[in-house]
Amino acid sequence: MDEVELAAEAISGSGSLALACHMLPDGDALGSMLALHHLCRAQGKASVASWPEPFVVGPHYTYLPGLDLVTKPADFPSAPEVMVTFDCGSLGRLGELAASAEAADLLVVVDHHATNDRYGGVNLVDPDAAASAVLVYRLVRHLGWPLTREAAICLYTGIVTDTGRFQYSNTTPEVFAMANDLARYDLPIAAMTRQLFEEHRFTYLKLVALALERAELDTDRRFVATWITTGDLERFGVELEETEGLIDLVRRAAEADVSCVLKETADGTRVSLRAVDDTDVAAIATTFGGGGHRAAAGFTSDRPIAEVLEAIRAALPAR
Ligand code: 5GP
Ligand code: MN
Repeated sequence: MDEVELAAEAISGSGSLALACHMLPDGDALGSMLALHHLCRAQGKASVASWPEPFVVGPHYTYLPGLDLVTKPADFPSAPEVMVTFDCGSLGRLGELAASAEAADLLVVVDHHATNDRYGGVNLVDPDAAASAVLVYRLVRHLGWPLTREAAICLYTGIVTDTGRFQYSNTTPEVFAMANDLARYDLPIAAMTRQLFEEHRFTYLKLVALALERAELDTDRRFVATWITTGDLERFGVELEETEGLIDLVRRAAEADVSCVLKETADGTRVSLRAVDDTDVAAIATTFGGGGHRAAAGFTSDRPIAEVLEAIRAALPAR
């Protein structure tokens, strides 16, 4: 039996489902999880959905239907019958919900990260899938469950964010076929695009100005990096989750193949890495205990920004 079939069997055979996505969830994590949450409700199947603390979403995702139907991680079942994780490459990315995953009778992992370590009992893991939302779509088709408009909005959010608005190399015929199907559900395309990719508070733009001003270009390594401290966030009144798109600006530098944004947090440094050539940044992130995709990866370190930046630089070949 293939993994889609095993996952479908686990889901249809269960009385209730506990759904979770990775910490600091992005559009694909939230979209793929909430899509299945909506469809469970439509099927009369009980489900809860959550992600680890900090239990907040970035301002780009507040339009997602179903954010009023989620459960605080503290109220998440401690030993679920069937638990499904979304877009989460390793148990560590589940934070405090990892304990529930380990205690679940059956754990189904739905993910597309190349670095996924197949920590589930059933692993619907396909690194060639453009988004975890693509895997949820395959799963739902296999279950024979009809889509709803809410689920379509969530799935579209997963594919449009993880393909960079249908621009990255993961934008396959399957992605376009899926978008074509989802578009039948009267999607608010323009409003979603504006909120996901365009709109920011003015104060965030000022913070971006500072971050771009201090960016450093290492021409030998074709590497560009910048950083944001907790002091910067305080000064501009910006939340960490609001800064998710900063890396997409930094990686525009023509002189760089690899780009990096480091963010100071209460317990260390959060790092985003991107590659526009064939450098495998997931491999680099893995050496720091993180992971991701070849072209987009990340990790968290308990070391300060300057030390982490130096270590990343050292991991890159000088040419
Ligand atoms: P971002 O830079 O947007 O936070 O993450 C880029 C990609 O790397 C995403 O696919 C994300 O899921 C993955 N990623 C980011 N941080 C980590 C991490 O600490 N561990 C793992 N396994 N993947 C990560
Ligand atoms: Mn994803």
